[in-house]
Order: sequence, then structure tokens, then C-alpha cells
Amino acid sequence: MKVELSFVLIGTTHTGNIGAAARAMKTMGYSSLRLVDTCSHRTDEAKARASGADDVLLSAQRYERLEEAVADCHAVIGTSARPRNLAVPMLSSRELADTLNTLAANAESVLRVALVFGRERSGLNNQELDRCTHLVQIPVNPDFSSLNLGSAVQVLAYECSTGLHALRDTTLEAKPALPSDGAAMERLFEHLQQVMLQSGFLDPDNPKHLMRRLRQYFERNRPDEIEMNVWRGFLSSVQRPVSGAHDNEVNPDPSE
Ligand code: SAH
Repeated sequence: MKVELSFVLIGTTHTGNIGAAARAMKTMGYSSLRLVDTCSHRTDEAKARASGADDVLLSAQRYERLEEAVADCHAVIGTSARPRNLAVPMLSSRELADTLNTLAANAESVLRVALVFGRERSGLNNQELDRCTHLVQIPVNPDFSSLNLGSAVQVLAYECSTGLHALRDTTLEAKPALPSDGAAMERLFEHLQQVMLQSGFLDPDNPKHLMRRLRQYFERNRPDEIEMNVWRGFLSSVQRPVSGAHDNEVNPDPSE
């Protein structure tokens, strides 16, 4: 049905790049700009580079952590100049809009999507990549693959504005449910970790990559609301015998 896009910039160090991103967004009709741990966006240089997209620039929301910036999003699209963590699907910029169209196909409510852009020098770190449901690369010269941040925002904003369908055929029968949002995913990971610590499956002194692998596994295919309830219910059910084990011992079935 409807896709709502937010552009998330992480750790941007050049204020002018934030202005350029705002300008690129506005030319394609987008306005939701989220800034995670970036330099200031309220500077003369940012304003100059925004070239009239001051409204987008000045309404930007600031966050300390990526999790907070994408808590309401059903899909988190990391962007990268080079192939990175292949635990989630890597798309080309041309494939992005169709992937989002499929995710949003005929869903009853709005699909909220975050497009996440990394630092000028080092891009996105592994922890941030692990919070992405998909990765996107703009195909460029393999020997010189790094675009300026504002240019990368421009290309992806263009692809989305031309490729996303505003309305879908609502006569289709199947109504796929939306993937869970970021906040629900964080609660699932916390719950999983709690249960695995309690059961002894996760050794806090030697966690290896267990939580990271599980995170990548679930991010690749986020459960919808009903599936999430099943997972959370299952986790609670295995927690109960752990905490209630003692009761069972001291209070055997009186009918026996
Ligand atoms: N040196 C960094 C590149 C940073 S460029 C690196 O190698 O990762 C700053 C940001 O612009 C990147 O984090 C990414 O969000 C975006 N970007 C630059 N080139 C891109 C490309 N070819 N495809 C997708 N995103 C790109």
C-alpha cells in the first residue's frame, strides 16, 4: 500500500553534507530526515548546501543511537559503497524500489522504511549493519566506488521516487502482514538473550557470535505480528518452567 521513507544519517562529520542530503531528499519529494550522532545541522554551511530545503533540514530529528532512529520502521536498508555483511540480502539501487513494493504489497497499513547512510570516512560499522534488514549498493566504478554522501542520498531518493508505487491493487486476496518494527525486534532479541542465559545455552563468559548470528537470521526475514507473538509466547513458556521448577518439586500433584 503506502511506503513512508525516512533518511537516516549516522555519524556525519561534515555539516555541508547534511544540507546536501536535505536538498537531495526534497528534490525527490521526501522530508523525513533523522540524524544519529552527527555534527550540527543548524549551521550556515548546512543551510547554504540545502539551497532552499531549509524546512527538511530544520525539521530533522536527532537521535543518539540507530535503534532509536529506526524503532518505528519495518524495513531498515543499510547503504554501502562496498559489499559488506552478506548475512542480509544485498540489492542494487535499481532493485530497491521493487523489493519495497513487494514488502508493502497490499499490506493494510503503512510500511515504514529507513534508508541508513554511513560516515564519510568509514561508512556503517558492523553493529549498525546487523540492524539492517537489507543492504543496498549503488553500482559504480569498482575501482572508485565511494560516492559523496549527498550524491548517494540523491541516487536512492530518485530510485525510490520513480520506482515506488503509491497505490497497489487492493483487490488481491492475500493481505501479507507487515514485518515487525525495530522496537519489537529489539524486545525479541532481549527476550531471546534472557532465555538463553537462563537455560545456560548462552555462556556470558564465552558468547562467541551467538546473538549476532541470531540477529542476522531474524533481520533477514522479520516475523510479522502474529509470528512475533508466537516467538514471544514460546520464550515465555520455556521461562516459566525454569522459574517455576522449584514449585513443582515441593508441590506435587495432590491427587497422586
Ligand atoms: N569510505 C566509506 C564510504 C563512505 S561514503 C566506505 O568505504 O564504506 C558515505 C556513505 O555514502 C556510505 O556510508 C553510504 O551510506 C553512502 N554511499 C557512498 N557510496 C555508495 C554506494 N556506491 N552505494 C551505496 N551507498 C553509498
